[in-house]
Amino acid sequence: MNTKKIAILGGGESGVGTAILAKQKGYEVLVSDFGKIKETYKKVLTDFDIVWEESGHSEASILEATVVMKSPGIPETAPIVKTIVAHGIPVISEIEFAAKYTDAMLIGITGSNGKTTTTSLLGYILEQAKENVGVAGNIGDSFAKMVAQQSKDIYVLEISSFQLDGVVDFAPHIAIITNITPDHLDRYQYEFDNYIASKFRIAMNQTPDDYLIYDADDPVITDWLEKHPVKSKLMPFSMHQKFEQGAYIEDNKIHIHTDNNHFTMTIQKLALKGQHNTKNAMAASTVANLLNIRKATIRESLEGFQGVEHRLEQVLKIGNVRYINDSKATNVNATFYALDSMTSPTVWIVGGVDKGNDYRDLYPLINEKVKAIICLGVDNAKLMSHFGNMVDIIVETQSMTEAVKIAYKVAEKGDNVLLSPACASFDLFENYEDRGRQFKNAVRNL
Ligand code: ADP
Repeated sequence: MNTKKIAILGGGESGVGTAILAKQKGYEVLVSDFGKIKETYKKVLTDFDIVWEESGHSEASILEATVVMKSPGIPETAPIVKTIVAHGIPVISEIEFAAKYTDAMLIGITGSNGKTTTTSLLGYILEQAKENVGVAGNIGDSFAKMVAQQSKDIYVLEISSFQLDGVVDFAPHIAIITNITPDHLDRYQYEFDNYIASKFRIAMNQTPDDYLIYDADDPVITDWLEKHPVKSKLMPFSMHQKFEQGAYIEDNKIHIHTDNNHFTMTIQKLALKGQHNTKNAMAASTVANLLNIRKATIRESLEGFQGVEHRLEQVLKIGNVRYINDSKATNVNATFYALDSMTSPTVWIVGGVDKGNDYRDLYPLINEKVKAIICLGVDNAKLMSHFGNMVDIIVETQSMTEAVKIAYKVAEKGDNVLLSPACASFDLFENYEDRGRQFKNAVRNL
């Protein structure tokens, strides 16, 4: 029998995971990275006797592959990808590859914001319910590695649009689209429709036995669904409308109806605050309801879940001022919900690499909640011109320590200091985690 050969582009988490699974399934494997592979990953590849190369691609060898797995960070416009496609070799994502090797129930979560929070929350509920569940994808371990090394009954998968672009047959039994706002448009020919279409690939192969849970208050989602119907059963959630099947708010309670199953819970009891987190809770508990998890377990989990680092994370209270780390807010929509959830006057730290942001949506919230703005970026000109006239105090800074020190001086008893940058972090920081950690350190050193 001829050996199947897979070429894996990218030696990061999803590349190495795919390599381990492919090797186990009898493929001849080549991992090829244009840049450098991290030492820890090199060691894993060598331990598994997997062939790898870095600092360039050996094209001839890659073109012998019967299938290519492209890591999500590599754009379709990369020369090697174009060459592979021109040779007619299928290019798939890790999710597509791994799903073929498990019979477990798959739950896929995508959206512009809220993926990690919703995925972690659902994972937490299912763990509390003692289900044999794996949480993977864009979060923690790759799905492929989990399939290779652990046998689970349910996988909760956080899936980015880049992963969905490489999907052919992947069909989650339950899919969630948390919301869709413009992001990553540089990878989608600056066409919002291309990005929306990519998100909806999560439902592309679903059947009438499957479910699609989505935010019915998001006009981007509802308009798209009207024009491009899906086969799966629709389970909307909303803050404003009521549904026979789906989740809604009435009398300050979440109500969920799935088939004959009815779940309710008071919003005040949710551990994670803010409208956006109420939506994430509705999405996650709709899944739990569909899986017939005990209602007491769902409630206790929603009361106990402490959230994920860098997402509206409460850092410290100093002199009765609350410091909040929302470094993961790398776009305007995420910052919108952060400001929306502030219940006292807020000193707002914002800025970084602007991805073509339209700040107008934030104006009413700034007027209502923000007392001072601290711009933190290499280039703060756009922020200064947009917000200069909206608050009494607006300051330019170029280091986290300086930003936090000024925030400390400006904030008064009862105020919040919120880092919610609405921008990417690469001008001053390694990534959003580095930015969040620097914020927390600066706060602790006050
Ligand atoms: P993702 O994995 O999609 O990036 P996260 O859960 O990591 O989402 O959250 C990213 C940012 O978006 C954080 O600032 C968080 O507070 C905010 N956020 C979380 N859920 C939502 C939501 N449903 N709508 C809008 N913003 C959200």
